[in-house]
Amino acid sequence: MTETQLVQLPTRTQPGSELSAQENAALIGVENVTKVYNVGHADYPALREVNLKIERGEFVSIIGPSGSGKSTLLNIIGALDRPTSGRVKINGINLKRLSDDQLARIRNRKIGFIYQSFNLIPRLTVLENVEMPLMPRKMSQREREKRSRELLDTVGLGRKLRKHPTELSGGEQQRVAIARALVTKPEIIIGDEPTGNLDTKTTRQVMDYMAKVNRSGITVVIVTHNPEVAQYTPRIISVRDGEIEKDELVPKLGSF
Ligand code: ADP
Ligand code: MG
Repeated sequence: MTETQLVQLPTRTQPGSELSAQENAALIGVENVTKVYNVGHADYPALREVNLKIERGEFVSIIGPSGSGKSTLLNIIGALDRPTSGRVKINGINLKRLSDDQLARIRNRKIGFIYQSFNLIPRLTVLENVEMPLMPRKMSQREREKRSRELLDTVGLGRKLRKHPTELSGGEQQRVAIARALVTKPEIIIGDEPTGNLDTKTTRQVMDYMAKVNRSGITVVIVTHNPEVAQYTPRIISVRDGEIEKDELVPKLGSF
């Protein structure tokens, strides 16, 4: 473990068309992104001129102190929020060109979200929670249920379909949330402190599962302030005061 070597990633910028998806574009491109919050009469810059590229298949963690801008950055990467200035591209498509409806469609089609507090709907069953993101789709109820059951089996909850979230442990609830995030077959999974409410053992289970999801080809980006969680990912981006302070590749022993 002590032989782990830190490599500084070169910062590259790649100009490109803003109108259509590009074959060779990064999966996610964040270009000169600034996000300013208006607090009372003052403008507070939560992100300052951030540049970053995430390629297909990467497993990335974003770390940094509380208030450094991690969630703001993740919400912008996940198309949940728009930058004040600068550009965000997914598959080379500039999100600024899209209407709110088109953006919502991209979110639903391409991105799965996992949150610290699980964000499950308490009055729905486990199965219904997982089916939720498939509701906007033209798909039979049978098909929705089939797909959701399969994923709940995969995360080891096949026997708890009819339970309600409050009847489950924190780790189980997060596994429901992971199944819900995967049910749409997204290209990207993003998680904001997905292990923030879990004990050490459950944190490891959830991270082992995230690593498995990544090995299946899905790009995974998580925000964490737990250094042990960041150790699961080969790339660690450190944010401080709204800026990227470090962007490191940490080769994993035995991975080549
Ligand atoms: P982190 O996730 O790293 O803790 P955030 O991205 O949530 O940090 O916040 C970065 C900064 O932006 C913080 O100072 C926070 O108070 C501020 N901020 C975040 N969201 C808002 C908002 N909706 N309105 C005003 N200020 C905000
Ligand atoms: Mg946060």
